[in-house]
Amino acid sequence: MQKLTIAVVGAGIAGLTAVIALAKAGHDVHLFEAAPAWGDVGAGITLAPNAMRGLDYVGVGDEVVRTGVEPATQHISHWQSGETLLTVDRTKTLQQYNAAYVYIHRADLHTILVNAAERNGAKIYLNKSLETVNTETDKAQVEFADGTTFDADLVIGADGLKSNTRHLFKTQSPHFTGHIAYRALAPASPAIQALIDQPGMHIGPGKMVVRYPLRKGDILNLVFFTRQSGWEEDGWSIRADIEELKQQFEGWCPAVQALLNEIRPGSVFKWAINAHKPLEGGWSKDAKVTLIGDAAHAMTPFLGQGAATGIEDAVMLSRAISEAGTMAEALQRYEGARYERTSFIQKESNENADRLQGAESEMYGLGNLRNEETLGLFSYDCVTEQV
Ligand SMILES: Cc1cc2nc3c(=O)[nH]c(=O)nc-3n(C[C@H](O)[C@H](O)[C@H](O)COP(=O)(O)OP(=O)(O)OC[C@H]3O[C@@H](n4cnc5c(N)ncnc54)[C@H](O)[C@@H]3O)c2cc1C
Repeated sequence: MQKLTIAVVGAGIAGLTAVIALAKAGHDVHLFEAAPAWGDVGAGITLAPNAMRGLDYVGVGDEVVRTGVEPATQHISHWQSGETLLTVDRTKTLQQYNAAYVYIHRADLHTILVNAAERNGAKIYLNKSLETVNTETDKAQVEFADGTTFDADLVIGADGLKSNTRHLFKTQSPHFTGHIAYRALAPASPAIQALIDQPGMHIGPGKMVVRYPLRKGDILNLVFFTRQSGWEEDGWSIRADIEELKQQFEGWCPAVQALLNEIRPGSVFKWAINAHKPLEGGWSKDAKVTLIGDAAHAMTPFLGQGAATGIEDAVMLSRAISEAGTMAEALQRYEGARYERTSFIQKESNENADRLQGAESEMYGLGNLRNEETLGLFSYDCVTEQV
């Protein structure tokens, strides 16, 4: 399609990737973000090869690889004995998938994406909170909380788990999944150097601890997952008490105790994992509005695919718009290509938590292994996949 005016709402990983892809394709792209300023999320993220393929497509893959850390191996260990249950060799991942596997600080990834969006000519507006979209006029009209409006040929809702754009569709509020994530960054130290050099996780009944290095190994990203009820808030800046976390992991092996001991007081945050069920009846309205990323299919993080699928959405949507003759056709092709895959990953991600956190941790890895790699998720190529 010829040059379009496109409004992307939400400057998360999905929205920014979409902005870059669409600006590169020659469209007039406007990005609206509710936050008044860029924040600094103190956490890491894993970019699997299927995510990196999308980032390569928008031209930031090399910078992401240079800024992040590529693991050589990953280790899954028993919560109590500390014994290794499974070792994954990642030295051949790049060759096997023709895309890297990268750990990166979220703030670094965000900076790379914002810079690329600006370099490619996208206009970015902060402090612009979408209230709704009016599709009854010729164009889609975005209505903001400050009373202003913006007219576009297409509005892309990339406004995350609690998306206002999603309210245009038959949706329910996100639901609490029963999982809580405690997050912390620990500075590198001799006591945990071996655990920094060998990223991975400890798994136990109903709980697990994920660790991986960021910023050339200067920092260790830690996520302690538990299952709890009675507390359901989510957000990147909700503080938690280190003693509460230590209590949750009493009796876990010395390696986990060493990790807990390296966390500085005041630096633990907690996040109740909320998610969506697949959105029945479609993601697109009147050939003028669609959804990507968590706004479309927020999932639990147990396959590390939330941002990855948002990146895939962004590339596939941009390609559908380039290849289709009309917007109605583009959105139909985009949804048609994405719904089944993202619904499958939403379901499998929940089930993977149960597999990793089963009652008999010592059995993990024996028999048929079902994880993000054996499920074939890494092989998906948003650059060549039919859309
Ligand atoms: C503990 C944890 C670990 C995870 N680990 C991984 C991992 O390793 N790999 C992976 O791929 N995924 C992972 N995920 C999932 C991943 O973080 C999310 O899927 C991803 O960040 C979602 O990106 P998004 O751009 O769709 O939404 P968001 O990041 O939520 O961005 C939405 C943006 O929209 C803005 N916004 C919201 N409302 C409005 C509005 N009304 N108007 C304007 N702007 C608005 C927000 O301020 C925000 O900037 C993890 C998630 C959690 C909780």
